[in-house]
Amino acid sequence: MDEREALVSGQNPFVAVLSCSDSRIAPEYAFDTARGDLFAIRVAGNFVTDEGLASIEYGVAVLGAPLILVLGHESCGAIEAGIKAVKDHTVFPGHIPKLTDALKSSVETVLKQPGDLVENATVQNVKNSVERLKKATPLLTDALGKGNLKIVGGIYRLATGKVELIA
Ligand SMILES: [Zn+2]
Repeated sequence: MDEREALVSGQNPFVAVLSCSDSRIAPEYAFDTARGDLFAIRVAGNFVTDEGLASIEYGVAVLGAPLILVLGHESCGAIEAGIKAVKDHTVFPGHIPKLTDALKSSVETVLKQPGDLVENATVQNVKNSVERLKKATPLLTDALGKGNLKIVGGIYRLATGKVELIA
């Protein structure tokens, strides 16, 4: 029986991944996973939206995924836009301000820190997303409390294809 046939009747992914929409980041490839392994939620800037949280809750509470990974990445255009919105007061067209608004607090937290602002904001955004998920009542907090769930954060390095865990 091939992989697709086996998955017609159900799925039990071992990880729910919240990653950026960036076309260079394909979480299924980054982890060499097959169909049925990885439950993916993607939004530019990999931050937690209410709808994304609902998807993650489904992945954990219904499908039984024991792990959530928030995956940021290098050279993230969403993070760069978030920085422009804060530093230069750039107002982007259409609905893009929804995205830059969501990244604002991460950018502001690291604005005066030494080092590379894009890198620092990317790391901060992953940490903030991990924290938000850890506090998401009742489903994720329940699973965490029972020891059925781990929530971690990582940064995908474009040049090496490796994921560095940071939270
Ligand atoms: Zn990105």
